[in-house]
Amino acid sequence: MEPSWPKSQGTNRLNDNRTPLRRAGWVALAYLLAGFAWIAFSDSLAEAWFPDPKTLSVIQTWKGSFFVLITGVILFSVMLRQLTKDRVLLKLQHRQREALRERERQLQILMDNLPGMAYRCLYDRDWTMKFVSQGCAKLTGFEPNELVDNCVTSYAALVSDADNQQLFEQVRVALEKEESFSLEYEVTRKDGSRIWVWERGRGVRGEDGSLHLEGIILDISGRKALESELEQMATRDPLTGLLNRREMSRVLEEELQRARRYQRPMAVLWIDFDHFKEVNDTYGHAAGDSVLRSMSRLLLASVRSVDSVGRFGGEEFVIALPEMDLDKAYETGERLRLKVEETPQPLGDGRTVPLTISIGISVYPDHGQGAAVLCAAADRAMYLAKKRGRNCVTMAHLHDQVHNE
Ligand code: GH3
Ligand code: MG
Ligand code: MG
Repeated sequence: MEPSWPKSQGTNRLNDNRTPLRRAGWVALAYLLAGFAWIAFSDSLAEAWFPDPKTLSVIQTWKGSFFVLITGVILFSVMLRQLTKDRVLLKLQHRQREALRERERQLQILMDNLPGMAYRCLYDRDWTMKFVSQGCAKLTGFEPNELVDNCVTSYAALVSDADNQQLFEQVRVALEKEESFSLEYEVTRKDGSRIWVWERGRGVRGEDGSLHLEGIILDISGRKALESELEQMATRDPLTGLLNRREMSRVLEEELQRARRYQRPMAVLWIDFDHFKEVNDTYGHAAGDSVLRSMSRLLLASVRSVDSVGRFGGEEFVIALPEMDLDKAYETGERLRLKVEETPQPLGDGRTVPLTISIGISVYPDHGQGAAVLCAAADRAMYLAKKRGRNCVTMAHLHDQVHNE
């Protein structure tokens, strides 16, 4: 709600159009009464004091002149007072107009230099803009006059339907609590590109009682990109783009919790490249990196979207397979092993190298309850696969669970 100020007495008087007329009327009446009283009183006094008609005539002339002199002095002082007042008022008006112009200029500079746009809009489903600052063009690609009154497009059309729904709800709650609102959402610019914006505004009631929203909208795409980059850095392996060890451990725990809750099986595949050191030694570290990257793509492309692939370190990869029991997990491991065996790996210089992998498998709940136990069991199974001559898939021993829990 807008604050309502009590009206001062001066304001009341200013609004009363009858005041000048009434005051002028009183002054004229007082002048007439004084004039008539003076004529009547002075005439009878003069006649009593100067019975001689000649002297009386001279006295009458002097009396008339005296009256004119007095009225002239009064008229002069009244006019002087009024004109001085007018002049002071004019000066005050001029100073106020100058101050207002200066404030408008400062506001304009501030608005034009905002790193986004200031707006005033209706609280409706179109977010109908009534005013947008010049920054609108840079932010949305639309000129201010294209957005105002939905001339070319409404602001709501730049936001997805789902986001609009959510924004409307957030604004409604803020208005109800008479608080300002902060929103983050994506905007489609005139050229079709998408940017992230941050908006802060509040409800404002106009003189006529209509509800408007006023605030600013800033482009925060840079911050969003940095955030996702930081998130990427915290959760992804920089070489392969797969989940890093920490994130993969978290995902394993999460998947296990789900498997436990729904009493479903879940498999862990532990993969190690065979004789990978030879690739590095023969073709160089960069070629080894190229193989690591292409193998990551191959593994990722060979599993379901619900499966998670992570690089645990070096050339060891872990895959979490929800809903997979012993048999299905073995089938998947074997399928992956065969696929890798059949696919020569690019070295990055046009040449390729054949590569095989050894896979160890453990399954929840058969080989353990916790992520650490299942990983250890799958790791041991992988070493068994190495011992068996590599390029093979080995299931963890069922008694592994007894050893570890
Ligand atoms: P094994 O069949 O017994 O697994 O033989 P291996 O040569 O693969 O032996 P191991 O798994 O112990 O060796 C891993 C090698 O992987 C050692 C290291 O040179 C290489 N390696 C680890 N991380 C990277 C990496 O980020 N880039 C490259 N190019 N090589 C890596
Ligand atoms: Mg190896
Ligand atoms: Mg290794």
